[in-house]
Amino acid sequence: KLYNQLQETKGNIRVFCRCRPLNKGEISCGYNAIVDFDAAKDGEIGIMTGGATKKNFKFDRVYTPKDNQADVYADASPLVTSVLDGYNVCIFAYGQTGTGKTFTMEGNEQNRGVNYRTLEELFKVAVERKETFSYSLSVSVLEVYNEQIRDLLATSPSTKKLEVRQAAEGFHHVPGMVEAKVENIKEAWNVLQAGSNARAVGSNNVNEHSSRSHCMLCIMVRSKNLMNGECTNSKLWLVDLAGSERLTKTDVQGERLKEAQNINRSLSALGDVISALAMKSNHIPYRNSKLTHLLQDSLGGDSKALMFVQISPSENDMGETVSSLNFASRVR
Ligand code: ADP
Ligand code: MG
Repeated sequence: KLYNQLQETKGNIRVFCRCRPLNKGEISCGYNAIVDFDAAKDGEIGIMTGGATKKNFKFDRVYTPKDNQADVYADASPLVTSVLDGYNVCIFAYGQTGTGKTFTMEGNEQNRGVNYRTLEELFKVAVERKETFSYSLSVSVLEVYNEQIRDLLATSPSTKKLEVRQAAEGFHHVPGMVEAKVENIKEAWNVLQAGSNARAVGSNNVNEHSSRSHCMLCIMVRSKNLMNGECTNSKLWLVDLAGSERLTKTDVQGERLKEAQNINRSLSALGDVISALAMKSNHIPYRNSKLTHLLQDSLGGDSKALMFVQISPSENDMGETVSSLNFASRVR
């Protein structure tokens, strides 16, 4: 399996780069695509940054606009199923708004994304292993907005602030957070839908709101080995990050500025944690943001992480594209 091969030679974080197709608006504006996929098979991608100059980047995988949801999931699958073997796993999508983070993670009814395919495969493998393991799965859906955690499965709005706590056993959790037990893909899908619907509540522009918050799905797995009675708990985070675009001129004050600063802060905190892990630093600054604090058990140690860096092919997004690829290169 791809992931395990890579695992032998490198650290615990993989980076997959995915580029969406040019959209109708970009085509009608006459914008050119500036991405060179000639060496995509080797994980290389080039960005034409003007004139004859090209900036090259190397990742574990590069997906062209022609690659579909199944192609992408196939490479993530070994990592996903390792949660059934007791590993903590984290998969997140990073990139500018409009580059396909939600498409990759959530997808839609015709093009199911990583979240749905993950749950589907976990149930499938659980059934295959039913003679030797008994698994129980539960799901939580959170949103982090302006450094505040919101439980998207809570039935009544809680007045108590949700916080990350460390349990005596060492793992991190959010006391009071709903953990919905799911027995099959249909139940799991209903829970995801409920979370999605809750996200819309209280915001007048859902797309705008979702581009400014992190959407975090946690799948908790309890496994019992039927041969020796051994039990393990592990979790898989699937995260659709807030848009990584830099501050714009319209963000200079008020709520917009606060949002933008919180996003910048939490995405830099994520980058800092991952590079501290890569450098085997003694202090990993997990507590600098709610995002990294929540993900703590699934970043570092013997956990496994995968980052999708999403990009636009269009020349008018060049600045953001190069900035995202630089961030992803730092992580890798
Ligand atoms: P983000 O979540 O990063 O803001 P979206 O996932 O909402 O971006 O994607 C923006 C638009 O581009 C959506 O209409 C989505 O369906 C489309 N899109 C994104 N990636 C792809 C892709 N690989 N193939 C086809 N359409 C895509
Ligand atoms: Mg989105």
